[in-house]
Amino acid sequence: MIQISVWEKESFYAHKNVIIVGSGFVGLWSAYYLKKSNPKLSVAIVDRGIIPTGASTRNAGFACFGSVTELIADTEKMGEDKMLDIVEMRYKGLKRMRKIFSNKQIGYEDFGGYELINESQNMDINNLRSNIDSLNHKLKSLIKKEKAFCINDNAIKTFGFKNTSHIIENRLEGQLHSGKLCQALLMLVQSMGITVLNSIEIKSFEKNNDKIELQTNQPFNLSCDKLLICTNAFAKQLLPQINIEPARGQILVTSEIKNLKFKGAFHYDEGYYYFRNLGSRVLLGGARNKAFEEEHTNTLATSDHIQNELEKFLHEVILPNESFTIDYRWSGIMGIGSEKLPIMEEVSDNIFCAVRMGGMGVALAPLVGEKIAKKMIEK
Ligand SMILES: Cc1cc2nc3c(=O)[nH]c(=O)nc-3n(C[C@H](O)[C@H](O)[C@H](O)COP(=O)(O)OP(=O)(O)OC[C@H]3O[C@@H](n4cnc5c(N)ncnc54)[C@H](O)[C@@H]3O)c2cc1C
Repeated sequence: MIQISVWEKESFYAHKNVIIVGSGFVGLWSAYYLKKSNPKLSVAIVDRGIIPTGASTRNAGFACFGSVTELIADTEKMGEDKMLDIVEMRYKGLKRMRKIFSNKQIGYEDFGGYELINESQNMDINNLRSNIDSLNHKLKSLIKKEKAFCINDNAIKTFGFKNTSHIIENRLEGQLHSGKLCQALLMLVQSMGITVLNSIEIKSFEKNNDKIELQTNQPFNLSCDKLLICTNAFAKQLLPQINIEPARGQILVTSEIKNLKFKGAFHYDEGYYYFRNLGSRVLLGGARNKAFEEEHTNTLATSDHIQNELEKFLHEVILPNESFTIDYRWSGIMGIGSEKLPIMEEVSDNIFCAVRMGGMGVALAPLVGEKIAKKMIEK
């Protein structure tokens, strides 16, 4: 067994005021707001991956706050107030992120967001218009814009989609490079004096008088005054009682398409399918609703079933007359639960968590980080 030196023990692995488990977007934004509120705090972020290896580096890079059919479904499931609360957090989160980072730093592109209504959805245009008007009205005071959503059916032909009866446009959405955002956040927190430790898995923790001792998979333990768990889909390992379940999301990316006809971030089927241009390639993900049971897993693998569903959608709707190959396939794990709102709470004395970001953590994480940091500082 490797023994650690006194130098290591008194620097990298020294007792900290706060240890954050998980260096995805939530862990990183939380670290940023903790240190910003109190620069004297000693803070470390610990991740079991050699880089952050959760959903934050494996997603689709949509900078979005919810499509029309998704927000209508959310209203039915959780009520209007909660739907508006979560949209507000996402919308403000995106603004916050863009205030702190330049477009270049995070690969942000302002191509807008769209939702496709498929012919098989049989949606009546008058019904759709009245749903959009009512949603625009509800969001008006929150986004300070007259209209978030509008119908733009001319785009169906321009973009070359098949089996599509309507397109809803949202100019307030965009897309980014998730790897660049994660790296920019890591550099930012390190520049503030936060210690980032990788390849350390936290196995368990226990309170020992005023200290919290963290058992790791390495030949040393860590300790802190306050602990923040930001492990999202994997949170049950450390907090077995928490209401969170893993939901795998799978993605594929095509070869480059000559003269690709569209740019933007597209939603379909209440957000269960999503695609965007990635330069001149198409990145497509989702189809989890075709196999909920199979995708209720935290195994980082792709499956033929879902990948075939995605390819079918590419051929039938997105790129009907193109020939292409698939250059990349991967999966990531979301943390979901019976509620869509994230969990941001003190679970027991000086042990906090900020988890369950669902499918829109890019947008949610800045405000979740700010809120949990405030809770921890005020304690
Ligand atoms: C396929 C897919 C597509 C998505 N597309 C989008 C999108 O386009 N836009 C959007 O807004 N959101 C999207 N999401 C959701 C978004 O990526 C997540 O909501 C967000 O990244 C969650 O961030 P997080 O920090 O809470 O968790 P994560 O990024 O999952 O981070 C958790 C971290 O904890 C670490 N960890 C876990 N257990 C331990 C332990 N015991 N010890 C130490 N470290 C541990 C993991 O290694 C990981 O790095 C997508 C998700 C998936 C899976």
